[in-house]
Amino acid sequence: TAPVTWSSVGERRDAAMGGPVAPLFYDEPLEVVSGSGAWLTTSDGRRYLDAYNNVAVVGHADPTVANRVSRQLRTINTHSRYLHPEAVELAERLVATMPPGLDTVLFTTSGTEANEVAWRLATELTGGSGALIVDHGYHGSTKWMADLSSNEWPPGHQPSAVGRFHAPHGGADPTASVAAAAAGLEERGHRPALLLADSGFTSEGVHDAPASYFSGLRDAAHAAGALYLADEVQVGYGRTGPLMWRFLQSGVVPDLVTIGKPMGAGYPMGAVITRREHVDHFAQHYEYFSTFAATPAAAAAGNAVLDVLEDRGLPARALVTGDHLVARLRCLAATTEVLGEVRGTGLVVGVDVASRPVARALLQALVREGALAGLTGAGGDVLKVRPPLVWDESHVDHFIACLTRALGQVAAG
Ligand code: PMP
Repeated sequence: TAPVTWSSVGERRDAAMGGPVAPLFYDEPLEVVSGSGAWLTTSDGRRYLDAYNNVAVVGHADPTVANRVSRQLRTINTHSRYLHPEAVELAERLVATMPPGLDTVLFTTSGTEANEVAWRLATELTGGSGALIVDHGYHGSTKWMADLSSNEWPPGHQPSAVGRFHAPHGGADPTASVAAAAAGLEERGHRPALLLADSGFTSEGVHDAPASYFSGLRDAAHAAGALYLADEVQVGYGRTGPLMWRFLQSGVVPDLVTIGKPMGAGYPMGAVITRREHVDHFAQHYEYFSTFAATPAAAAAGNAVLDVLEDRGLPARALVTGDHLVARLRCLAATTEVLGEVRGTGLVVGVDVASRPVARALLQALVREGALAGLTGAGGDVLKVRPPLVWDESHVDHFIACLTRALGQVAAG
C-alpha cells in the first residue's frame, strides 16, 4: 500500500475539505503523526505535552485498546443489527456505573447523535416541542443541535423553540432563570420538552455548580413539564474523578444522560442512557437503530477503554492530579495580571485570561513551548486545560513550566 504522505497536507486539506468551514486547532495546525500516553509527536519530530485531548482519556495509542480493536477488526466488524457480546457487555458495564433506574443504553456514533436521540425521546415522552439550554453551551453539530448550542449562533439568531437560562455563577439558584426561559417558550407556542446542561459547563467557561444548582435545574425542568438531560460528553468518563460521571457528585439523578468523546478512544461512539420505561414508551411508535453504533469493533474499543480506566484507577487519579494542577495554576496566577480565577474539578480546568487577544497569544505561545491547551467561554478568554487522565504530577509540573515560559513570551510582546 502507498505510504501516508504528509507533504503539503495543509493546502490539500484546504482544497479538498472545505478550509475555513472546518477550522483546526491553533494558528499553525499541527501535523500529529503519532502519540503515546500524554505525548504527541508532529511530522517535524517535535514532542508536545497533550493538555487538551478529550478523546484520549486513557492516553494516546493505548495498547489495550489497539489490540482489542484490531483483533475484532480481523474477526468481524459489521452492522450493529446482529447479536454480539461486545455491545451487550459494554451496555451492562455502563449501566453498572449509573444510579439505579438509569438502566437502558441506546448506542450512537457521536455526542451529537446521542443528544438528538435524547431529544426524540423527550419530545415523544412529554409532547413538548421546546428546549431549555444554558446560555453559551454546546451540544452538537446537526441543525437542531446547533440551535441548542448558543455559542454557535451567528448574531441575531434566536430559534423560537429554544429558551436560554444562565450558567451557574457562585451559588446562584437557577429556578427563576429557567422559569423565565420556559415562560418565553410558552409565549412562542412551545411547551418545554427537554432541559440540557453540560454538567461541567465547559463551553460556558468551566463552572463548578453546587448540588443545589443541579437539583434546582431538575426541579425547574420538571415544573415546566420537561425532562432533564445531563450532557456528560465532555466531562464524563472519570474526568472530574473519583466517580465516572460529573452528575454523580451532585447526587441529582437526571432523566437522561448522554456520553461520547472518549468512549471509544477515537473510535466514533456515543450513547444515551435512560430509564427502560422511557424507551418502552418511545417503542410504542418508533424503533431506533444506527448502523455503526456499537459495532463489534466500536464496542471492543468501548470495553477496552473501561478496562484501562478501571485497571489503572484513572478516575481517582484524575482528582488527585487535578488538585495539584489547580493548586499550581493558582500559585502562578497570583504572580501575574494575565491570569485570573482558576476553576474546575479533576482534570477539567478553566483559567480566566485578561482578554481574548491575550488569551489567543498565550495559547499560541504555549504551543511554541510544547504544550497543547484550548480556549473556551463566552468571550473566548478562558484557558481550558483538559488533558488525558494518564497525567500525573510530573505532567502538571511540565505544563506549568511551559505555561510560565509562555507567559514570559506574552509579557515580552
Ligand atoms: N455535548 C458536549 C458537551 C460537547 O462538548 C460536544 C462536543 N464538543 C458534543 C455534545 C458533541 O459531540 P460530537 O462532536 O461527538 O458530536
